[in-house]
Amino acid sequence: MIQDNLKIVRERIEKKCFESKRDPSEITLVAVSKNFGIDEINTVYNEGVRDFGENRAQELDKKVSLFEKKVNWHFIGTLQRNKVRFAVNSAEYIHSVDSLMLASEINKHAEKLNKLQKILIQVKTSYEESKAGISDYSELRDLGFYCKEFKNVELIGLMTIAPLTDDENVIRKSFSSLRKIKDRLNGDGLNLTELSMGMTSDFEIAIEEGATMLRIGSAIFGERDYSTDWKEKL
Ligand SMILES: *Cc1c(COP(=O)(O)O)cnc(C)c1O
Repeated sequence: MIQDNLKIVRERIEKKCFESKRDPSEITLVAVSKNFGIDEINTVYNEGVRDFGENRAQELDKKVSLFEKKVNWHFIGTLQRNKVRFAVNSAEYIHSVDSLMLASEINKHAEKLNKLQKILIQVKTSYEESKAGISDYSELRDLGFYCKEFKNVELIGLMTIAPLTDDENVIRKSFSSLRKIKDRLNGDGLNLTELSMGMTSDFEIAIEEGATMLRIGSAIFGERDYSTDWKEKL
């Protein structure tokens, strides 16, 4: 079941890359394993996936200690200050940096571990109230330049979550604006390469708009069952 799902997702990515004249090797598939257990992660690992995404710091930490194989863990959720050490301990990438305070806290913990923490800044590209991230350009630019000063943080790109809608144009606008913001920041002197955008419902549009990291959960693992706590699944 998971193997079939993964095969279909990979075929869809390849097809969309072909249609939009992109090289599939520029795109990392991050399998979002939140709320799934080690067995499911192992199934996907055995199919060759080496990038996994989690949105809760403690769940990530626990899975890293239980799943002993070496993979790239991506932290993609809202990060509270008191959970930063878990994320820095376990994640190769933190996608959801949205304040100087958080970046500074990440740098502090990375320094303790003598680690260069790769991060992305989360951008709010839609008008939905609930979405996290920074929308103001000068605030983004300032944060980007502050990050350059941090010795143990490497800012590699931007992340966004498109609004929840069936309107393809609205979704496309959200992704294309992330790409334009990246280009503008690079024009101002940053050196960003990554665009983390696209989930189960919209990853094909994200590929067309330049995504380099796709965060895909339910299309691979199936629907998430939140009726039982993640702790009971491990
Ligand atoms: C859960 C989650 C995803 C994956 O969502 P699916 O719709 O299951 O693909 C991607 N990004 C973030 C930030 C998430 O929290």
